[in-house]
Amino acid sequence: MLDPAVAIATSALMSTVLLVLLGSLLRSGIPGVLEWIAANLAMVIALPLILMRGRIPDALSIVAANMLMALSAVTYYAGCARFLGRSARWPALIASLLPLGSALVYWRYAVDSIPIRVLVTTLFSAAVCVAVALLVLRHRPRGRSSYPYWVTVVTALLFGMCQVARGIYFMTLDGVSSPLMFATTGSVILLVAGAAIMPTLSMSAMMMVHGVLLADAREAANRDFLTGALSRKGFEAVAHTQLAEAVRQGLPVSLLSVDLDHFKSINDTLGHAGGDAVLREFVRMTQMQLRRGDVLGRMGGEEFAVLLPATELGDAWRLAERLRNAVIAQPVTTAAGLCRYSISGGLAGWRLGDTLDYLSARADAALYEAKRSGRNRVCIHEASRSTNVQPSQDSVERASMS
Ligand code: GH3
Ligand code: MG
Ligand code: MG
Repeated sequence: MLDPAVAIATSALMSTVLLVLLGSLLRSGIPGVLEWIAANLAMVIALPLILMRGRIPDALSIVAANMLMALSAVTYYAGCARFLGRSARWPALIASLLPLGSALVYWRYAVDSIPIRVLVTTLFSAAVCVAVALLVLRHRPRGRSSYPYWVTVVTALLFGMCQVARGIYFMTLDGVSSPLMFATTGSVILLVAGAAIMPTLSMSAMMMVHGVLLADAREAANRDFLTGALSRKGFEAVAHTQLAEAVRQGLPVSLLSVDLDHFKSINDTLGHAGGDAVLREFVRMTQMQLRRGDVLGRMGGEEFAVLLPATELGDAWRLAERLRNAVIAQPVTTAAGLCRYSISGGLAGWRLGDTLDYLSARADAALYEAKRSGRNRVCIHEASRSTNVQPSQDSVERASMS
């Protein structure tokens, strides 16, 4: 005959392992990890109490043990809520334990019924599993690998179904309530499934945490720490994709290279921190001018690039001029004083056969021309021009490189 004690002991061991593994993620500071650790700790305490049934008072081996397991389940839920940026709603979670505790006491001391005790505990556990699945389904972050979230949702639903099956199975058992009920083959199979819930859900929680850590590492590599614009590496990765997509759809693409004028003297006057403040403010202002899908990158120092998919050169020029005028109109307040500055820009439009590198080289050539001809202006690479680009003569220096 299968021994239910083996399933329970294995589950206790797995929860201990998960406790240690989750402990290694505590330093990440990711919300929810602490709650998931506490959920496994509650299981590690509850399961030995169940194993000692008959040798310690039922108040401990039945009521306290089941309450600790229920506490573990709601604590896991709270961990998921915090991980997903929601409130844990502890008062409601603790309140949900009260009817369960009353039911356990009633069906142990007023009427001693193992099937009904199993039914209420499994239904409670199933309800928490469904709540976890719905929570993760509704609030899983978009734009990130959804695999660990779906693993959590599907696992929680499968376990919820196993718990309902276990509750119903016990109600179908004949005869007086006896601990032997736990030893039938069907009961042990369902018990094993039930015992695997917390360790398995903890593993899926770890997968979700690893997903966040991976995304954070990628983000750090692809984003410029000072300004929040994409780093050169991040820009090139995103711009390649956007350019290929726009070309595939037959849409025009423009690239704007921007360089802050006389930035060295800004640093000399306001200090490096003042220069940093100007860079941050410039990026903030630029982002306000851009649309979704436009890609802004810091290519190095005070040089930036903006890829503008689905944008004709004429529209790109208007945007660049808007930005140039906004910069002049809004001096930056730094700790060392007010900073008035200007920018120069170079524009190029995508041509058949262009790579991102060719496009950038032409925008840079136009930027060089803007610098050479006096700064505080936007030049369009002559060979990029099409007939519908009509910037006014006085504000655009024609770059005559092809
Ligand atoms: P131009 O008008 O020809 O572009 O002249 P410039 O002075 O802007 O150009 P230059 O390339 O001579 O100087 C760029 C300066 O930008 C030099 C460098 O110290 C400064 N710089 C580069 N990165 C940073 C940064 O992250 N913060 C600050 N504050 N300064 C930076
Ligand atoms: Mg400069
Ligand atoms: Mg420069």
